Amino acid sequence: MPRDTRYTNNEPDGTPFQELIMFPTLAPQLARPQHAAPPRAPPNGAGAAAPGALPVAGTAEENNNLSDFTPPERTFFITAILSFRESSASQGSKAKQPKKTSATKTGPALPLFSMTRCAVLQEVLKLHDLHQHYQPSNVSGFPVEISWPGSPGGKTNAPTVRDDQEFETIMTQIYEKRTVKSILVGFDLDLLEPFRIRSAVALDPRLAPWSGPEVRFGTHVPRPDSFSGEDQLHGAIIMDLREEWKCDEHDNGACYKKEDEHFPLNRWKVKHWAAAIAGSQAGVSMRDPPPTLFRPDDAIRSRVIRPRGRTGPRHQRAGSDSAVEAGTMMSAFFSSLLQNNVAIPPVTPRRPKKHYLSPASSPAGPPESSSPLPAQEDELRLCLEAFGRAKPSISPEEITVAVTALSEKHYTADTLSFAGVQRLAEVTHFAEGDVCSLLKFAKEWVGKVEHKRARLSTSSHRF
Ligand SMILES: [Zn+2]
Repeated sequence: MPRDTRYTNNEPDGTPFQELIMFPTLAPQLARPQHAAPPRAPPNGAGAAAPGALPVAGTAEENNNLSDFTPPERTFFITAILSFRESSASQGSKAKQPKKTSATKTGPALPLFSMTRCAVLQEVLKLHDLHQHYQPSNVSGFPVEISWPGSPGGKTNAPTVRDDQEFETIMTQIYEKRTVKSILVGFDLDLLEPFRIRSAVALDPRLAPWSGPEVRFGTHVPRPDSFSGEDQLHGAIIMDLREEWKCDEHDNGACYKKEDEHFPLNRWKVKHWAAAIAGSQAGVSMRDPPPTLFRPDDAIRSRVIRPRGRTGPRHQRAGSDSAVEAGTMMSAFFSSLLQNNVAIPPVTPRRPKKHYLSPASSPAGPPESSSPLPAQEDELRLCLEAFGRAKPSISPEEITVAVTALSEKHYTADTLSFAGVQRLAEVTHFAEGDVCSLLKFAKEWVGKVEHKRARLSTSSHRF
């Protein structure tokens, strides 16, 4: 069964949802003749359809004869359940996290089957008067949980729907349940932040100010047409930084150099640095990175012992050469952004990232005998950070997001393996394969910590 949609009439059939619902209603030119819809009836039910079309009002007879004709469009009442945290002002000082609560709103009946996922999400936002503040992504997110009376899993275990394919799966299920007349769509205000309508976030949520610890993840694909002046400013600083710290020795093209050590200016680092400059962070300039940006273990060896005075940044720029480079880097920069359709958290340039850059609490790799024993409450974070360093395909931001999400669910490094791979993939937004690697890594990591803890407790009488 093909899972991908088709774009021409010559391709094999898509899913039943596409063939029966989507194409006839949204792309009639692609609909197979046997599924082609009769002209849509006027919304108020008055007026007859074209010759050969069917009666307009929904009768029981029609509803039972799907094979013979296309029934009038089913409509559904959408109930949108918004979860949010109660204002912390009313909470006692003991309460670490404000209590979660929810608000429920139901709207008018809507023709769900001819609506796109984004259109449904817009309606959901509208019910809570949030539509002017947030914009669903047409690729993924914001995540919603969809259920209906009698749905498998019910409301509490409703499946999460993030993209069109997941939406289509749910719509197919609803389509098959002919008695369903209403659906419940649950969504969480905490997860909406990346979808806030805000110029910088439209380009790249990582540039957005971190508006609170509750912001965890989301997906937003930047659109080139939404680049604001601020975004371009960051882009320009990034290019300048890469030029300033150009490195001919290493493949990444630019390294921050301190003494004889090179710290690769990968796109995460350079973005944070640029954002700090744009945000006028104290002590940060083209020559001085944010103090916590580079850690000793980020350093890579310089192969060449340079003559004195050549280890610093390059100050001269060759005119034509740098113009060509700038173009290349600009396009590389944009294309790297455009490829970023994975979940990326907003990151503030102004606040030091306590999660993964604090030198005091971030030993490199799995704990070795010389490194201090991690505090138990830090283990999950340290383990994941070590995993992130071992797995360069996962960005530090993604690690931070995963740590936050896992901590919220009270996972610890040694209990990760009790959760299923799929569940962990859902929580962390890692690919399933990466989750498997993580589980393997965490097991070894925890083993080393346990070993060390045991050794310390026998060698010292204090603990
Ligand atoms: Zn270098």
